[in-house]
Amino acid sequence: MKINAPKGTRDILPDESSAWQWLEQTFADICHLHAYQEIRVPTFEQTDLFQRGVGDTTDVVQKEMYTFDDKGGRSMTLRPEGTAGVVRSYLENGMASWPSPVRLFYNMTAFRYENVQKGRYREFHQFGCEAFSAAGPEIDAELISLIDLFFQRLGLSQTSLQINSIGCPVCRTAYHTQLRAWLQPRVASLCPTCQGRFEKNPLRILDCKEERCQQATAEAPLLIDHLCPDCDTHFEALKNELTLLDLPFCVNPRIVRGLDYYTRTVFEFISDHVGTQGTICGGGRYDGLIETMGGPATPGIGFALGVERLLMELQAQGVKLPGPETADLYLAAAGSAGPQVRRLSRQMRQAGIRAETDLTGRSLKAQIKYAARRGIRFLLVIGDDELNRKSARLRRLSDGSESDVSLDDLSQLMELTQHNKQEA
Ligand SMILES: [Zn+2]
Ligand SMILES: [Zn+2]
Repeated sequence: MKINAPKGTRDILPDESSAWQWLEQTFADICHLHAYQEIRVPTFEQTDLFQRGVGDTTDVVQKEMYTFDDKGGRSMTLRPEGTAGVVRSYLENGMASWPSPVRLFYNMTAFRYENVQKGRYREFHQFGCEAFSAAGPEIDAELISLIDLFFQRLGLSQTSLQINSIGCPVCRTAYHTQLRAWLQPRVASLCPTCQGRFEKNPLRILDCKEERCQQATAEAPLLIDHLCPDCDTHFEALKNELTLLDLPFCVNPRIVRGLDYYTRTVFEFISDHVGTQGTICGGGRYDGLIETMGGPATPGIGFALGVERLLMELQAQGVKLPGPETADLYLAAAGSAGPQVRRLSRQMRQAGIRAETDLTGRSLKAQIKYAARRGIRFLLVIGDDELNRKSARLRRLSDGSESDVSLDDLSQLMELTQHNKQEA
């Protein structure tokens, strides 16, 4: 019986995994440059955590979670996103007493039972950051700057930054009343989803991608024009801070977040590349979340970025991704030199040279053919002669150029194979 991977999952094969490692390493480097430290949280948590932390009115919680009872009869859920688990950990580990701000980053898989389409998987990968206990707009701007530098480092250029403020419970409640009154005579022209949003979450209607909803709400009052003085001051200061850091932005008053604990700053990085337009990553401030989760009132801000989406974008923009990892050097054994060559290969690996040698009893000719097929850049043919002389001819397979190298002192070999790596 042939068993396939479950729908919505996929294998990342060796051809691709180097690109993933490069993305993961680059993200970690950028986070470290900004004093963000890595956190790793469990793959599954108690279901309650996501009902509270993601919000039980959201599609994610209502329709898309992988929830199961464990053998002890407790309801568990595979994490559908990163923030809830990180906040749980923040509270459980008393991070409130750490020097503030507490800056954390993660690189994780997450799970959602979604319709499978291009670039969307049921098991997917996310990079993200969360920062706690800094209330001012400076950390909002620093976090945005981090993402910008990450994209710069990757060579991703055709992106733009959009920001908005969604206020606080005070100004948003007043605005909701106003928005509902404005929407009331127009409800019938909205899509079914938005008709459902009218009572619970009218703000989300402004963010709907359906043409009819966009048309119906084109003239709707905007929250950005009805912020309370504190929220307004925060937003003005954020804009100044972004300007100070040379980060171009535009204000898009239609970016929203669905839930009450989101406050003030929201932002998205959008692709401007023809064919892949859309959000690459989004984030925002959630000053009410930690309280919702049972902790003391604590400001927080974060973002998440889908790695599959990011890879698609990099490919679409023609960024050259690293190819598969191969050995730098192939040691072909001539005659009866096999055992000594295997011994030598161990010494080379100890010295830090990526060396491969034959373990399948191939002829010398077949060994050389194999090395070429694997894309290995350097070849050493070693027989009794070479072992006696303690030197051999190093051949670069791309152009056939050769030089003598010592088998005794491996530093020269190390330098040649490493140096040429930069060239290739
Ligand atoms: Zn406000
Ligand atoms: Zn709609």
